[in-house]
Amino acid sequence: MRIVAKNLTYTYNPKSPFASQALKGVDIVIEEGEFFGIIGHTGSGKSTFVQHLNALIKLTGGSLTVGDYDLSDKKCKFLELRSKVGMVFQYPEYQLFAETVEKDVMFGLKNFHKGMAEEEMKAAVKEAIGRVDLDYEDVKDKSPFELSGGQRRRVAIAGVIVTRPEILILDEPAAGLDPLGKKEIMQLLHAIHGSWCKTVVIVSHDMDEIAENCTRAAVFSEGKVVMEDTPAEIFKRSDELISLGLDIPVTAKCARVMKERGIEIDTDFTCDDFIAKTLALWKGQGGGNAQ
Ligand code: ADP
Ligand code: MG
Repeated sequence: MRIVAKNLTYTYNPKSPFASQALKGVDIVIEEGEFFGIIGHTGSGKSTFVQHLNALIKLTGGSLTVGDYDLSDKKCKFLELRSKVGMVFQYPEYQLFAETVEKDVMFGLKNFHKGMAEEEMKAAVKEAIGRVDLDYEDVKDKSPFELSGGQRRRVAIAGVIVTRPEILILDEPAAGLDPLGKKEIMQLLHAIHGSWCKTVVIVSHDMDEIAENCTRAAVFSEGKVVMEDTPAEIFKRSDELISLGLDIPVTAKCARVMKERGIEIDTDFTCDDFIAKTLALWKGQGGGNAQ
C-alpha cells in the first residue's frame, strides 16, 4: 500500500484561544516496501502526521490515501484500515496492562477479529511473540511487569504486528534503550520489514539510525516537509539541517571536518561506506597497509 499525503493540515483545539496548527501543508509519498524515516525537531508535527496514517487523528484538511483507502471519505473502512496500518507509540511498554504477556498480545487481535476462534488466536499470538524474538513458552504466562524494559517493548510490538499489518509505523522505537537494545530493535525491524510487514515507517531523533537503516526519509520543520530523499542526499545538506536546529550523523560530522581540511569523501553516510571510502583514500595516498 502506497501512502500519499497532499497539503495535509491539522490544528489542535481549533476555534479556541489554545489553537495550535501542527501541520501546515504536508506533502509526502511513501512507497510500498520502503523503510522510511521521519526526522524533525520536537513540535515539528511528526507524531501528528503519523497518527493520521491509521486515522487515529481524523483528516480535517488536505488529502490522504493509504493504498485504496481514501481517508477523506467518510465511508472509508477505518477499522479495516487500522488492522492494516499498525501503530507503535512512543514508549509503548507503558501501555501494557493485561495480567499476562499472552493476554496482552491477544488484546490487539480481539479488537480487529471478533469472530476468530480461540485456538486460531493463540496460534497467531504465539507466532507474533516468536517474531519479536521472545521465547513464547517462557514469557506467555508472565506479567509484562516481570520482563525487562527491552522485552516489554517487544511485547508491545508483538501486540501490534499480531494483526499482520502491511504498514508498521513506530514513533521513536529505540528511544530510551541502551546502545545494544537499540541495535537489537533495529535488527528486529529489518527482520519484520519486507516479510511480516511490507513497509516500515519510523519516527526518529537519531540521525545515525536514519543513515544506517532507511531507504528514504522526510525532514519535518514547523508543520511542513522540507526535504524528502535518500539519507545520502539529505545528509549532504548538513548545513541546512544544522540551520534547522537538527543533528547530523557522526559520519557527516567527520566528513565536514575532513572537508575543512580539503578532503572530500563521496559517501552515503553509513558507517561501513564511510570507513571503506576513507580507507581507500588513505591507501591511495600511500597511507599505512590497511586491507
Ligand atoms: P513532534 O512529534 O514532531 O514532536 P507533534 O506532532 O507532537 O510534534 O506536535 C506538533 C505541534 O502540535 C506542537 O506545537 C505541539 O505542541 C502541538 N500538539 C501536539 N499534540 C497536541 C495536543 N494533544 N493538543 C494541543 N497541541 C498539540
Ligand atoms: Mg512526537
